[in-house]
Amino acid sequence: MADKKQNNKRRNNNNGDEDFNPRFRKMRKKVCTLCSDKNFVLDYKNPEQLKKFINDKGKILPRRATGACAKHQRDITLAIKRARHIAILPYTQN
Ligand SMILES: [Zn+2]
Repeated sequence: MADKKQNNKRRNNNNGDEDFNPRFRKMRKKVCTLCSDKNFVLDYKNPEQLKKFINDKGKILPRRATGACAKHQRDITLAIKRARHIAILPYTQN
């Protein structure tokens, strides 16, 4: 009776983060798409391109999901925020 064993090992994962799975800790290392593709130009006026970096709620995906390097994740974030400001991307959905 005294042992306080945690039974809820399965943390709820309803924050739109599909990458989180405690059973598969080791994941293949992703290569930054912006570093690998030299011709890839991040454009805040191109919603089709930026949609890959937001989830269905309109949130910006974390680095572990986008696979971008620190430098390019900052660029992505800035581009998405600019796109939101000029109303070509949503701040939120539902
Ligand atoms: Zn990069």
